[in-house]
Amino acid sequence: MAARRSLADSLRWMAEGGRTFFAALAGLPDDRLDRPTALTGWTGRHLVAHVAANADALVNLAHWARTGEERPMYTSFEQRDADIQAGAVRSAAELRSWAAASAEQLDRRLSELDERQWSRPVRTAQGRTVPAAEIAWLRAREVMVHAVDLGAGVGFGDLPADFLTSLIDDITAKRSGAGDGPALTLTATGVHSSWTVAGTGDPAEVTGTLAELAAYLSGRGPGPGDRPAPPLPRWL
Ligand code: ZN
Repeated sequence: MAARRSLADSLRWMAEGGRTFFAALAGLPDDRLDRPTALTGWTGRHLVAHVAANADALVNLAHWARTGEERPMYTSFEQRDADIQAGAVRSAAELRSWAAASAEQLDRRLSELDERQWSRPVRTAQGRTVPAAEIAWLRAREVMVHAVDLGAGVGFGDLPADFLTSLIDDITAKRSGAGDGPALTLTATGVHSSWTVAGTGDPAEVTGTLAELAAYLSGRGPGPGDRPAPPLPRWL
């Protein structure tokens, strides 16, 4: 169902997600960044370092899209993790300015792309080949979901409904493709949308708001409703 998402949508969500993330970050005092987040093993510093490094990595893809010269997001998964660990020991002030500067740089690089370059194939960190237009979506979901992870009071219910729908499309496709989790049938209340996730066992039925479904599917909340839904590992 990925066809529901246009480049204009992704750019709009990327801009709104950026505003949401940086407003949440600005509201967190420096010492809060030293504390653990809901993401296992990550403090606020790790999270900010990751969001900054993600923008740098997507600048690589923007270069690839503009020039056709292959430039992967990260050298390797090990390098990606090492950069987050190294970034996390920087001062709060350095982390804040790295995150802001890298986001601005990404905006600039993407604003240079023309229609042909937006459709040029690039490769994501997961090894998928996608049109460059996906760069905007990859960034949108990072800043939106990690704005929630900052623990500064932003919840999935604060994110735009059309973004949440696209996020659920994305995660259900990813989890179905992997096929190694529980089979699920998901129904969003109020918007007449439903999804299935291919997997093991009889499909568990999960019904909730878009925000509840997105939180659950991304491994950031219990399944909504009376019956316990099968737990899912973290995504993103
Ligand atoms: Zn992330």
